[in-house]
Amino acid sequence: MLVGVLALQGDFREHIAALAECGVEAIPVKHLSEINAIDALILPGGESTTIAKLARTFGLFDRIAERIHAGLPTYGSCAGMILLADRIEGAAVGQESFGGIDITVRRNAFGRQVDSFEADLNMEGITAPAIRAVFIRAPWVEQVGVGVEVLASVEFNGELHPVAVRQGNLLATSFHPEITGDNRVHRYFIESICKVAIS
Ligand code: GLN
Repeated sequence: MLVGVLALQGDFREHIAALAECGVEAIPVKHLSEINAIDALILPGGESTTIAKLARTFGLFDRIAERIHAGLPTYGSCAGMILLADRIEGAAVGQESFGGIDITVRRNAFGRQVDSFEADLNMEGITAPAIRAVFIRAPWVEQVGVGVEVLASVEFNGELHPVAVRQGNLLATSFHPEITGDNRVHRYFIESICKVAIS
């Protein structure tokens, strides 16, 4: 199995390193031929507006969207979650997403005062201990459609907000497991969604 990590902007190197630690072959993806060759895709954290614009500029946008909607196993962290969302609150003018997950995400949802924070989260499908989740100008999920499973939520100002969701072959987290050295979310993606056994 070959996993591609979209490498237009953002922390794609960290995702490639996390996959390598899981023993999975991963390549940075920048060209149409690479998008056609991969068996699974990761959309990294970064700036969703920039990633979408660059995907348009380099002529990749429609093919990526097409493969995602055709069932390509895809995982998006943070900006990647925004790119997988069908609807975006707080979008920049003209901001596009590939879509695929029937959710509304709110960009930069946690507000300025807590631009970045960490929390211990229990995530469905991942056995204890809790995951140390790092949020950096993160979105949360504001609304979920019927086919969407909420795998983890975080409490903020007394309310619970979904921060990890799955719909079929698509997985998204508001947080960045790629920067913590804990590869359990990547393993979950490979084993439970890509259905490939890793040792
Ligand atoms: N705030 C960024 C966006 O809207 C996401 C931040 C991140 O990926 N760490 O794209």
